[in-house]
Amino acid sequence: MQNIYGMTRTDLENYFQNLGEKKFKAIQVLEWLYQKKSNNVLEWSNLKKDLRDKISEDLSFARPKIIKKEADTLTRKYLFELEDKNYIEAVVMFHDYGNSLCVSSQVGCNMGCSFCESGRLKKVRNLETFEMVSQILEIEADLKLRISSVVIMGIGEPLDNFDNVMNFINIINDAKGLAIGIRHITLSTSGLVPKIYDLMNKDLQINLAISLHAPNDNLRSKIMKVNNVYNISQLLTAIKDYIARTNRRVTIEYVMLKGVNDSKECALELANLLKGLNIYVNLIPYNETNHLEYKKSDPKTISEFCETLKNNKINVTIRKEFGSKISAACGQLRSKEVE
Ligand code: SAH
Ligand code: SF4
Repeated sequence: MQNIYGMTRTDLENYFQNLGEKKFKAIQVLEWLYQKKSNNVLEWSNLKKDLRDKISEDLSFARPKIIKKEADTLTRKYLFELEDKNYIEAVVMFHDYGNSLCVSSQVGCNMGCSFCESGRLKKVRNLETFEMVSQILEIEADLKLRISSVVIMGIGEPLDNFDNVMNFINIINDAKGLAIGIRHITLSTSGLVPKIYDLMNKDLQINLAISLHAPNDNLRSKIMKVNNVYNISQLLTAIKDYIARTNRRVTIEYVMLKGVNDSKECALELANLLKGLNIYVNLIPYNETNHLEYKKSDPKTISEFCETLKNNKINVTIRKEFGSKISAACGQLRSKEVE
């Protein structure tokens, strides 16, 4: 059965038109679901009774359940159980400018980055659109607050689940849906080059973040298998094309792994690689996990790396450490459940 939380405005319009109804019913439905937050079709008083019956017959309203929460001052982490008993997670971060939510896009991940828990556990399946939308709805309901920005940086490689992720962005951005501004939506990818072009062709003004994590192919291939398929030079060409087409600054993510990619030479090589591009580098303090050997770089090493980039005219920030105590990085809470 199709799930109503996975339907875009266009999907709903088609649904109603196929029933011989007016397509503006789609807007009424979106308002009930996302503005009045009603999942009870009986309450939908501006729709006729037989249409309400038809909707409840045709469409599912089921949402994944929150089964575990972990909290610290600036974050809340949620573990969800899906209908088929798979687990995913989402993390809320409270900022002074609003609340942002990091959502998962797949159960596990096939990209196999050597430092990542989600990669260690492999992909089980893609998330359906409604399972992504539900992460926001359930958490908003639990915390009784509005999520104002979304980062697709939880478990999974979003561009490996392209269509569902595009529908997700469409629904949460729709003015009658969750109305999350398009510039408040960030998608992070490990660098699936052809899919970056597909994304570019959608002409969305979302923020694109690229997990680069190394300044040369030799090192990147050691920690990210995807580099054997799309190397740095192909990735950089895609990034340049993406910037030229969308006129958006791209974020380069660089996770700081002690003794692996955090030397001064790496910083200089990275600066040289990225010079002149409309990008900024986000240095990510590594979140250590029990299963993997990598260690986080010392704070001093991170700030020196940052300085080297700055001195070489690269815009750079160090990501605030959110939730390292509550295993908030990519896949860590789920991995406790499924190991
Ligand atoms: N698959 C996508 C999005 C999910 S991962 C991608 O790789 O971009 C989101 C980010 O978290 C990536 O930059 C990833 O490299 C990083 N990451 C993974 N494990 C981490 C950890 N243990 N500590 C810090 N960052 C991590
Ligand atoms: Fe997958 Fe991203 Fe983890 Fe790599 S870092 S294994 S792409 S989730």
